[in-house]
Amino acid sequence: MKKYLVLARKYRPQRFSEVVGQEAIVTTLKNALRFEKVAHAYLFCGSRGTGKTTLARLFAKALNCENLSTDCEPCNSCPSCCEIMNGQSLDVMEIDGASNRGIDDIRAINDTVGYAPTSGRYKIYIIDEVHMLTKEAFNALLKTLEEPPEKAKFFFATTEPHKILPTIISRCQRFDLNRILPSQIVAKLEEIAKDLSRTFEVEALQKIAELSDGAMRDAQSLFDQILCFIEGTITLGAVNQVFGLISQDHFFSLDQAFSEYRLGYAFELVETLFQAGKDLTHFFSQLIEHYRLIAVVKTLGEGALPPSATIYQQTARHYTQAQSLYILEYLIQAEATLSKTLSPRIFVEGTLLHILRSKHRIPVEVLVRRLSELETAWKGQIPELSAPPKKSVPESTVLLPVEHVQEMQPRPPLQKMDPASSVPPPAKLTKESQPTPLTQNIPSEPVTLPLPEPIKDIKHRSHYDTLMRFAAVELEGSLRS
Ligand SMILES: [Zn+2]
Repeated sequence: MKKYLVLARKYRPQRFSEVVGQEAIVTTLKNALRFEKVAHAYLFCGSRGTGKTTLARLFAKALNCENLSTDCEPCNSCPSCCEIMNGQSLDVMEIDGASNRGIDDIRAINDTVGYAPTSGRYKIYIIDEVHMLTKEAFNALLKTLEEPPEKAKFFFATTEPHKILPTIISRCQRFDLNRILPSQIVAKLEEIAKDLSRTFEVEALQKIAELSDGAMRDAQSLFDQILCFIEGTITLGAVNQVFGLISQDHFFSLDQAFSEYRLGYAFELVETLFQAGKDLTHFFSQLIEHYRLIAVVKTLGEGALPPSATIYQQTARHYTQAQSLYILEYLIQAEATLSKTLSPRIFVEGTLLHILRSKHRIPVEVLVRRLSELETAWKGQIPELSAPPKKSVPESTVLLPVEHVQEMQPRPPLQKMDPASSVPPPAKLTKESQPTPLTQNIPSEPVTLPLPEPIKDIKHRSHYDTLMRFAAVELEGSLRS
């Protein structure tokens, strides 16, 4: 049976020009080769799958290559290059710091470091996951790093540089590798797909890039899995199926339900997920990502969207900026509770209901501001408001003297107010709009509410003010809970 090589190994960069996303580091390493200013220790830091050991191996290969090209690329054909590529070189030693972490392992290095290289120019030690070394091992290593033999080079790779002793770090040239951009990952996957003569939907590759979180190795492993699953064209549907992802259509339907205030969709969606056996935790992270993209459109504009998410220009129109930010904030807080809840299904239903209901949410700060505007505008025009009540009244009507409350029955519609009232409107309130009903006046962006026309009849003005105060108290209680 033919030996199968996983994509991450098969397409591992063998030349500096094939390294993706680390241009500055590649330039520095090439210049070190070109000007023969090679330090004796290098530290490659970065999250998983960004190319730390790949770069270390490439650099080692270039250092020992017998026919280095003019642009400092290893030839990949000389005996030294071939030995290193096959992992048979006696001069390049790869040590896994996680399983060789003790002082004895480092002593073994120290004992051999003085010997001359067998065939290459340098003796190179690549220690992966170097942060796993014990303190004693680090100290033993430090001795060698202080006065390394001329022909010895140390390349360290780590995902957690903060765990390495500062005295070690200060003796190394340190490189921090970038996460690889989704567009760069997509380009690499396209290259691989073409090389393997596979057809694909670009959205499928974009989804894989998104899932791999900036790690090329992860992207290639996921791609491997997809290639095994599907024989024909690689589709987004196949990617969703293999990784148990929820189709984006469900999220767009949620946006539609939001705009139509269709609360029942919360239950429908969770039922669909349950029937399909989807993982609710996974769904929740996708939900947060969905609202993050909507919030991005609403705050930064459509231009800030990644190429794979241009569809959000449409769906974001169902939300105001305030609504999108509120939902995103709510979801981030809710996510912490999801893992602790005893009934995740009910929790997710409740969360979706909360999202749908937030369509008619009025920010409490808007209500409070509006109240204070009303208070300022009408200050002094209702003497009863500032004067203490004449007799004790129930708490619910404490803002108005009892006789006012009695006078207010029944309440006439506000638009029928007498425009020729004897009370002149305050100078600063000149808007022509009617006082706006609370439940319909959802603030657009930026959040502003028009000032209501001053109510000229003193009886109605008091009534309106009382209602506003009640509304604020009621909503504060229900919306913040
Ligand atoms: Zn070579």
